[in-house]
Amino acid sequence: MRARILIFSLIITIISIILFSLASTQVYYNSSVDETEEYLLVYMNLYDENDYTADQDGADALAEILDGARVTYITADGTVLGDSRQQNISENHSDRPEVIAALEDGSGYAVRNSETLGENMVYYCKAFTEADGSTLLVRIAVSIPSEWKLFVKTLPTTATYIAIDIVLCIILAFVATYFIVKPVQDLAANASKKGMVTTKYSELKPIAEVLNERNRNIERQMGEIVAEKESVNNARKTKDEFISNITHEMNTPLTSIQGYAELLKAGALTEEQKQDAYEVISTQSTRLTSLITCIINYSEIDSDEILPDEVNFSEIAREMISVLRPEAESHDVTLEDSIEDNVIVQSRHELVCEVFGNLVRNAIRYNKPGGSVTVTLNYDCLKVADTGVGIAPENRDRIFDRFFTVDKSHGGKNGGFGLGLASVRKICLKYGWKISVESEQGKGSTFTVEF
Ligand code: ADP
Repeated sequence: MRARILIFSLIITIISIILFSLASTQVYYNSSVDETEEYLLVYMNLYDENDYTADQDGADALAEILDGARVTYITADGTVLGDSRQQNISENHSDRPEVIAALEDGSGYAVRNSETLGENMVYYCKAFTEADGSTLLVRIAVSIPSEWKLFVKTLPTTATYIAIDIVLCIILAFVATYFIVKPVQDLAANASKKGMVTTKYSELKPIAEVLNERNRNIERQMGEIVAEKESVNNARKTKDEFISNITHEMNTPLTSIQGYAELLKAGALTEEQKQDAYEVISTQSTRLTSLITCIINYSEIDSDEILPDEVNFSEIAREMISVLRPEAESHDVTLEDSIEDNVIVQSRHELVCEVFGNLVRNAIRYNKPGGSVTVTLNYDCLKVADTGVGIAPENRDRIFDRFFTVDKSHGGKNGGFGLGLASVRKICLKYGWKISVESEQGKGSTFTVEF
């Protein structure tokens, strides 16, 4: 970086010095031309005021008093009558710009490199009318150094300035690197610490913002990774719990089946005891099958990838009520319904049956003899209200957990596994429905599913 600053500043300053020296040479040259022209005007007056012959001798005499200036006498047709610098010039001078100007306007200046003498000269030519009426052109010229010569003359000074410039640029490179790099180093040190990166230099603020944005992204990603890890751990925990629950639920019927099978095998049972044993084995086998079906149904809700379709909930509700009516009657429960036609939901037929069946079956099972169940279905929601046992406040949130049953005997009066409402909640979550429950112990419960 230091070398770059050095090279960059050197290039800029050396070019500036050279350009400045060229410009000042030009200005100096122009002013010396102007000054020389003024001198020539005075010289010409000297000629005018004195009497010099228009020949070689006259030219030499005038040149002598003009401090060596070149004097040339030229006729109107360009013939050189005399020249103080070179005798017997035969070349016609009518094409010289100052001669043309003098013939046209009376006088004229020109600055050029003399073809005759090879010097850079300022010419002043003036036309005079002689006594015989002829025109005499008097040209006085003074040599001045050319622009190039002036430039070459300034070279030692320019070189001195360039040398000083190199030293200054080296110092500048060190100072600039310090002042530029230091804030960047501070910023880097700041960025390696925790928290917001700040800088008082406005030029570095965009970098600080980029660093802050990057830090925020890293923090967000770290948060996501932690959350993901947590969710993986939770999922693992849930799975372990699930398996342990299943094992526990299966254990009860299996132990019964195994125990009674052992007794039957031993052959020491009376006929009546044998009948009881067959009965228990049959009931527990049915319960085991039903548990397995419930677990499969519950697990399939997640793995089900079939896209939802328009399902006529009203038709399903009416069909299921007619199926469930005998069960309600067997529990001495009245089943009433108020179902609007063509309530269409985005779901799947089997899952709508699962939600409806579980809620209504529970309302029947957890009812009291002589009680009632009222099913209301409209475009906004499904309500299943019963006049049953109700749910204790401390259990109201937990009834939706897997394998949660209020009756812990797992083989209680109603014999549920605690997977029904868990399935209902899972299905509701899947389709963005909201399930809620209101209940009063001993008076009944109302389950509401809002679509
Ligand atoms: P289960 O198979 O045991 O019925 P659910 O998940 O369907 O499992 O219900 C969980 C628990 O919630 C039940 O054990 C029951 O105690 C309680 N419950 C569910 N519905 C009702 C209801 N309508 N009235 C009273 N209690 C209910």
